[in-house]
Formats: sequence, structure tokens, C-alpha cells
Amino acid sequence: MEIEILEMAERKASFVLKNSTAAMANALRRTILGDIPKMAIDKVEFHLGPIMVDGKEYESITPLFDEIIAHRLGMIPVPTDLQLFVPQDKCSCGGEGCPSCTIMYSLNKIGPCTVRSGDLIPLGDPTLKVKDEFIPIVELADGQAVLIYTIATMGTAKKHVKWQVANGVGYKYMPIVSIDADKCKHCEKCLTDCPKHVFSGDQKKIKVTDPLKCTLCESCLSFCAGNAISVTADDKNFVFKFETDGSMTAEAALKKATSLLSEQTKQLGQLADGF
Ligand SMILES: [Zn+2]
Repeated sequence: MEIEILEMAERKASFVLKNSTAAMANALRRTILGDIPKMAIDKVEFHLGPIMVDGKEYESITPLFDEIIAHRLGMIPVPTDLQLFVPQDKCSCGGEGCPSCTIMYSLNKIGPCTVRSGDLIPLGDPTLKVKDEFIPIVELADGQAVLIYTIATMGTAKKHVKWQVANGVGYKYMPIVSIDADKCKHCEKCLTDCPKHVFSGDQKKIKVTDPLKCTLCESCLSFCAGNAISVTADDKNFVFKFETDGSMTAEAALKKATSLLSEQTKQLGQLADGF
């Protein structure tokens, strides 16, 4: 079993899982989706009562319920370096909260304005500032203000979606598309009607140029005048793709998922040794 990277952007990856099985591909999909740990805002403390700024009194009130604001804060991707942080319940601080298991942010804004994710200020390391700065949280009118302290902790998507690193995690069997040149009648239907533009060429020769784009819809089989096209699925190789929410790079997420799955299968092997 091996992985061949097709694309590795900062927040987006596609790769081929080679010489594997559908069971292993699905295990990897579920691990990427649910098991990669990340930091997310889990505790939110709202200041109550008036807030004085430059001699003017503001009301600590917003158009949204505090619960809605807390939920929105929880869904903001918090930068996560898996080398720096550990889950709070496994931390050497005994779960009290320290820089190894928590990130504290403050949010201090007065209206009128739109409070955005970029207004979250990390207390301590400035590199922990949220990367997506323009996620709207709440609109403040004149005379309104928010003063909030939050704590981000590490978790996984099994507990709550705010700890979900990856989305759009999916795979397909490796498509195998071929054209029998002897049967091809050069109707060129495949050039115009293939929804994924897998084919290219001209009256002299038509080629399969991008088989990985094929979704195995098999529509080409119905419109090819010479029945020259063959489309099959390789059930030992899988084309994967996923994106991250920006809390970590796609490369870091994939490395963590594969190491987690490797650890789990190792533990299963050790169980078998004990029979
Ligand atoms: Zn700690």
C-alpha cells in the first residue's frame, strides 16, 4: 500500500491510495473526517454590564443571543500545530489549562461595527491569530459593545463538528478509460459530450487525456458511435480528495490521519498476538 500525491495545496489535497482495499480506503476516509485533533474555542466568557471607552458608556449587548455568538466563535478555525498542543485531559498540567493545552483569545469591540474573526486577539503567542480574518460574528449598533474571553482546547470531530479539520473527504475507484482505435468512427461525440472532458483529439486521433477526471458515469458508452470506449473501475486503487478548514495544512492533516490509522491497526495486530 502506498500514497501518490496528485495535488498538495495549503488547504486542499488529492492523492491516490495504491494497492489497497475499499475497507482500508473507507477507514482512511473516516480517520481524516473524524479523528484528526485540532484546537477550537470551547469556553466563552461574556462581560456583563456597562463598558466605558474614552468616557462614553456602552451597553454589553448585541442583536444575537450569547449562545449564538459562542457557537459562531466555536466554528472559527483556530490555527493548530500538532507538535505544540496536546488534549487538555492528557496534559502535564493535569487538565487545569496551560499554554500546551489551551489558547486564550480576547474580543473587545465597540459599535457601530461588524465583529469579525480577525478581532480575536490571542493572549500570548501572536502567531496563533486566526488566519481567516473576515468571518462575521455579530453586527454591533451604536452604543453596543462586546468584551469576551475565550479558551480553545483540543478535540476531535467525534465530539463536535467544531473540531472537524477536513471536509469534502471522498474517494472513488481509479477510473480506467481506453479507446479501441480500430473501432473508433471519429464521431467526436466524446470530445463534446463527456461532462468531465476526459477526451481530446481531432479527426485523426482521439485520446484519453485526463482519465482521473472520469466519474465513471459511463455516458460515453451510450453516445460513442463505434462502441470503441471502455470504462472500468480499478478496485485496488482509490482517488482521494479533501480540504481542510484552515486550522492546519492539508499535508499535516494527511500525515496525522495516516499515523493515527497506522497506530490503530498496529494495536489491532497486538490484540491478535495475544490470542
Ligand atoms: Zn495543560
